[in-house]
Amino acid sequence: MKAVIALGANLDDPKSALELAIALLREATDVISVSSFHITKPVGGPAQPDYLNAVAIIDSELPALDLLHLLQGIEKSMGRVRTEKWGPRIIDLDLISYGSILSEAEELTLPHPRAHERRFVLEPWLEIDSEAHVLTHGPVREILHQLPPAK
Ligand code: ATP
Ligand code: CA
Ligand code: CA
Repeated sequence: MKAVIALGANLDDPKSALELAIALLREATDVISVSSFHITKPVGGPAQPDYLNAVAIIDSELPALDLLHLLQGIEKSMGRVRTEKWGPRIIDLDLISYGSILSEAEELTLPHPRAHERRFVLEPWLEIDSEAHVLTHGPVREILHQLPPAK
């Protein structure tokens, strides 16, 4: 099943962090494609450095929660510590969508409940899948047209 994963980093050396996270993903799963790295302004949270964001598409047969735990394990192994909400982080791996799974559970909401309002997710995703869809909100290309322009 195809999973869409959003990666973000804004501490120390974000480029190395994204590269390491992708290498760890390759060890654990079948990575099909990875977008280029996009420099983006932080959204919400405290004043903090710019982010480097990317999206990866992988193929996995893991149950959804196991896949989430795998992503969290990579975050942990890279030294992510939880501080304030939406604060700066060494690495963030979000599961944006997984096959056609719909879930409203707090531990794992699918599709990711804020993906459709985030340019930093939608733009790299569209770059590697011109047919990308958010199950609950439609084609990524159209969602992007309707988002306010980047500041
Ligand atoms: P945001 O979710 O707005 O991008 P965040 O990535 O900073 O914020 P985290 O602190 O990394 O939030 O995660 C908070 C919780 O979100 C996690 O404990 C996780 O269980 C839950 N969660 C729910 N749905 C998802 C999802 N689709 N992908 C990743 N985590 C999720
Ligand atoms: Ca996130
Ligand atoms: Ca997260």
